[in-house]
Amino acid sequence: MGLCVADALGVPVEFMDRNTLADNPVVGMRAYGTYNQPAGTWSDDTSMTLCLADSLSRGLNYNDIMQNFLNWFKKGEFTPFSSAFDIGNTTMQALMRFEQGTAPLECGGNTEYDNGNGSLMRILPLLFYLQSIYGREFYQKDEAFAVIHKVSALTHAHKRSQIACGIYISIAAAMLLSDMNLAGAINLGLGKAMEYYRIQEGLAEELILYKRLEDKGFAELPPENIRSGGYVVDTLEAAIWCLLNTDNYKDCVLKAVNLGSDTDTVAAVAGGLAGLKYGYNDIPQEWVEVIIKREYIESLCTKLYFALTR
Ligand SMILES: [Mg+2]
Repeated sequence: MGLCVADALGVPVEFMDRNTLADNPVVGMRAYGTYNQPAGTWSDDTSMTLCLADSLSRGLNYNDIMQNFLNWFKKGEFTPFSSAFDIGNTTMQALMRFEQGTAPLECGGNTEYDNGNGSLMRILPLLFYLQSIYGREFYQKDEAFAVIHKVSALTHAHKRSQIACGIYISIAAAMLLSDMNLAGAINLGLGKAMEYYRIQEGLAEELILYKRLEDKGFAELPPENIRSGGYVVDTLEAAIWCLLNTDNYKDCVLKAVNLGSDTDTVAAVAGGLAGLKYGYNDIPQEWVEVIIKREYIESLCTKLYFALTR
């Protein structure tokens, strides 16, 4: 729900630049705008996250996840109003390959240009699956990272996108440790992921791109130095920066939306983590109440919860 509410906040102003938003910042749920949808409408970020959550409640099956993605895109399942909108190029191409019979793990784009934020925005439910299989310390296990990389590779197979997902899931795991403040959790999760990647042949050289996240002064960077477009590295940085510069769910996701550009996805990526850290009750009730098909989303979450804790 943390991810979904943030997505819905960003949808009406997607692609708007931050200078335009500065004159009229988003402070709550808006209607219409970019896609002319009513307030509380969520987009591909939430849809694909729900596809993954639904599939994981039946176990880990790459073909099944891709079939859910295809049912979203072609049939409008997992959507607010029974039709998909807002799909990225790399994701669309992967789904077309799958439809034409390509094996799921060979569908994802793997060029340098396939590093949009399309796998990062939908990867979060995997956290709960990994914890149920490998325990809380899953980030010390090769198998767990291999699963993260494969779930990314369904659509985004380049190592840069896979590493972004690995860092994100590792931070998400740390967010659930109750004895740690937010900055400490980000530090720990990031540190564990970096520790892992530094010794992986073929992946370590990509880490230079994520170096800023580890810089001491990262949180203090001025907004001009934070990009909020669709590039996966920028999205991960922007989300972490918003988390580090706020201390509650509402301020975090509004900061993300008001960075402009890929508003819904930067907010969704930040909002997923903010939801884990601050909890459901910190999400403004008036935002949750307008989410389209709220009960349906909550039922998919509950289904996953029971499947994994059985
Ligand atoms: Mg979207």
